[in-house]
Amino acid sequence: MQLQIHDLTKTYPNGVQALKGISLTINQGMFGLLGPNGAGKSSLMRTIATLQDADSGSITLDGIDVLKDKEAVRRMLGYLPQDFGVYPKISAEQMLDHIAALKGISNKSERKEVVASLLDKVNLGSHKKKNLGTYSGGMKQRFGIAQALLGQPKLIIVDEPTAGLDPAERNRFYNLLSQIGENTIVILSTHIVEDVRTLCSDMAIICQGGLMYQGTPDDALNLV
Ligand code: ADP
Ligand code: ADP
Repeated sequence: MQLQIHDLTKTYPNGVQALKGISLTINQGMFGLLGPNGAGKSSLMRTIATLQDADSGSITLDGIDVLKDKEAVRRMLGYLPQDFGVYPKISAEQMLDHIAALKGISNKSERKEVVASLLDKVNLGSHKKKNLGTYSGGMKQRFGIAQALLGQPKLIIVDEPTAGLDPAERNRFYNLLSQIGENTIVILSTHIVEDVRTLCSDMAIICQGGLMYQGTPDDALNLV
């Protein structure tokens, strides 16, 4: 698995240049994307997740042209957006079953099995019949990870996943992410240095739409 981003630019209709020619190579494992608020992290994540177009540049995922062949990328993608919201009046089990059906698992008993094992994995097994509206912040984030993991994606993008979590919830979330299998790319976008230092073997720093650094977290710390 390799994701290659070349000279990516994006200017919004209001004139804000969110990405000013970003080039990055991301290999399998946990990759941290660090930068202050407004740096362009979400813009980059949404573009990789095929939810928004770039103005110029290219993105390839194992040879797939991400900006053109969006359907192929979506089949390989798990995404936890920054503003992840849940439908309050549906249970975790029902919601995941629905997403599993959308992702093409047509056999009902297979879906039930997949959903149950995922909810166990994120430690929500005993809460799976409860409506999502009753979940705490930590539980919602764990549900968010469960939906992102559905269908064994090869590229997982999590955008500011620990925002609003207390330290214990954050630790559980870290544990969950660090269990994700081999031959998978996980991109963790965050403004929290500790998130990246704890979890990631490789990282980049972006600032004002430009790439400031790519390398290991240890080397990045030597810069400051
Ligand atoms: P980050 O995720 O690092 O906080 P964003 O990608 O959200 O950064 O934002 C980068 C810049 O682009 C900011 O100046 C932000 O205000 C602007 N921006 C983000 N999304 C939009 C949008 N949909 N329309 C206009 N400007 C946007
Ligand atoms: P965690 O991230 O481990 O879930 P939380 O603060 O989210 O930490 O909740 C701790 C535990 O308390 C949960 O696992 C759950 O058993 C219970 N809990 C918290 N909030 C709710 C809620 N709104 N509805 C049901 N159970 C809850």
